[in-house]
Amino acid sequence: MAKLSSAEGERPTTRSLTRKRKACGGGGGGCGGGSSSPAAAAAEGERGVEGGVGEDEEEEEEDRGEEKGEAIRVMIDPDVLDCSICFEPLRPPLYQCQKGHAACSSCWSLRNNKCHICLRRVTLSRIFSLEKLVESIAVSCSYAKWGCPESVNYAEKAAHEETCIFGPSKCPFPRCTYEGYIGLSPTHFSANHNKTPKGFSYNQSFKINVLRGEPFTLLIAWNDYVGKHVFLLANKNLGSLGCALSLTCLHSGVLNCHFSYDIMANDGSGASLQFKDNVVVVREWNELEKADISLVVPKYFRNSDGEFELDLCIHKIWSSAVKKK
Ligand SMILES: [Zn+2]
Ligand SMILES: [Zn+2]
Ligand SMILES: [Zn+2]
Ligand SMILES: [Zn+2]
Repeated sequence: MAKLSSAEGERPTTRSLTRKRKACGGGGGGCGGGSSSPAAAAAEGERGVEGGVGEDEEEEEEDRGEEKGEAIRVMIDPDVLDCSICFEPLRPPLYQCQKGHAACSSCWSLRNNKCHICLRRVTLSRIFSLEKLVESIAVSCSYAKWGCPESVNYAEKAAHEETCIFGPSKCPFPRCTYEGYIGLSPTHFSANHNKTPKGFSYNQSFKINVLRGEPFTLLIAWNDYVGKHVFLLANKNLGSLGCALSLTCLHSGVLNCHFSYDIMANDGSGASLQFKDNVVVVREWNELEKADISLVVPKYFRNSDGEFELDLCIHKIWSSAVKKK
């Protein structure tokens, strides 16, 4: 069954849905009484909800319903929108046996038209009414709670959430199990790890010290207007060689931008090292991998406190979709 989260106050097995109101025609599994088809169950779900709304709301719904094609909100058990064979969202074309057991066309083909409930080969008929119903249902993205404004067709929900930029990332601190939209929850770091991300602005150089014994420094952009991006300036002690550095963006989904950065290390007496690289975008970060090392700063660049003094500038470049690593 497709995973669905329930909004606060909703019953755990139901979900608030929006669909276009259509006139209920004579044929098809969606309107027949006593049928065990998903369409009938969906209709039952709707009736259940109508019984639960207030009188004023009912009148309002009826008034609005007179206008053909206007969307209404209904509660429905999401199980009825899933195929009883593959347990994925029903994808038209849909067919049913004579007893009204409905499934996707591809699932019937795989089973050689043998009904999994009737336990025999059956004659199939197409269910146009159920196809219309599933095609008209729009649901909110599960990450609406973190700011995603999208409403998508139920069958496309999982695909959308795979690429949704409001999807969860994992907290990079060892042993922390927090997963969420990190960009919206920078307070998680101060509340749980006693770390406050350092603020910066894109395209503006800023100074940052890499502290001894810290595997990464957290950075957050001030001038991100839609969605916040959290960066990790990771460092790894290479002993006598010095310190390896790399910049990573912690994010999920498919971004419509990418990042690059310029980094400069100074030894305090005029010598400096400069490097330019692209920022790696990951949903989960565990440690600085060898392949991701951008720059190795020699040990003698440390200041008297044992820190590396760096100048960093992060650039945000808008682009067509950039896949996460
Ligand atoms: Zn199926
Ligand atoms: Zn059957
Ligand atoms: Zn989304
Ligand atoms: Zn954490």
